[in-house]
Amino acid sequence: MKVKVISVLEDNYMYLVIEENTREAIAVDAAVPKRLLEIVQKEGVKLTTVLTTHHHWDHSRGNEELMQLCPGLQVYGADERIGALTHKLTHNQELKFGAICVRCLLTPGHTLGHMCYFMWEDNCPDAPAVFSGDALFIGGCGRLLEGTPEQMYRSLNEALGTLPKETKVFCGHEHTVRNLKFALKVEPDNETVKTKLAWAKARDDDDIPTVPSTLGEEFHYNPFLRVAEESVQKFTGKKDPVEVMKVLHKENDNFKKPVEPLDPRAVLALEWGLLGSLVQKK
Ligand SMILES: [Zn+2]
Repeated sequence: MKVKVISVLEDNYMYLVIEENTREAIAVDAAVPKRLLEIVQKEGVKLTTVLTTHHHWDHSRGNEELMQLCPGLQVYGADERIGALTHKLTHNQELKFGAICVRCLLTPGHTLGHMCYFMWEDNCPDAPAVFSGDALFIGGCGRLLEGTPEQMYRSLNEALGTLPKETKVFCGHEHTVRNLKFALKVEPDNETVKTKLAWAKARDDDDIPTVPSTLGEEFHYNPFLRVAEESVQKFTGKKDPVEVMKVLHKENDNFKKPVEPLDPRAVLALEWGLLGSLVQKK
């Protein structure tokens, strides 16, 4: 199993996962179809499937166009709002592509229909991988736009947190430096946060992705996976893990926030709305 990391838009990642025997390829979050197809062609593989983590524009905007360019394409996701969806998934559903096995993990919080994709290859010594979209980031997690702190707690600590520690984490955005700056605010004495932040800044300077990390690593510096730690509880002034999660999100939202790229259709609607109100005033 080979994973190609493709940087697109402001700071998004889309991924191409290749089954090396059959040369079949699976895309995760096909946001920019033409860029994806360039890589597909360069690798000499056949794209059969798109796995979409969630319906947000910067993760799913390419599905319709890709479907037109690749007839017969299968588009999987857990949310009806995902464009060109051909297969609606449920929690723990398993898929197979040649030797690649996929377990779909429903991880509500950022959106209600957010799905993470855990992948491994049978009889292969390589570590498994999880494509975590905007649920789990390196050093942080997605904002609670639709779900509750309790849902996010379960998504991170139960659905994702119980995967093998060596699992490679491929997330949906390059927000690592910003996330670790927040992590340092939460735990100013955490040496692992400091080391990872210095490493991530150096990668950022050289414009090299910080993905993947491993789940085991995340437990050492990601405050959203450390809600049971005394230092994180002290920062939030809470003990109950769901309460800790709630305060962390509130503080994280107030910390210099990375803005989700706006859907141009929404911007257009907003402008029309403004225009409408101006016209009405006249
Ligand atoms: Zn999102």
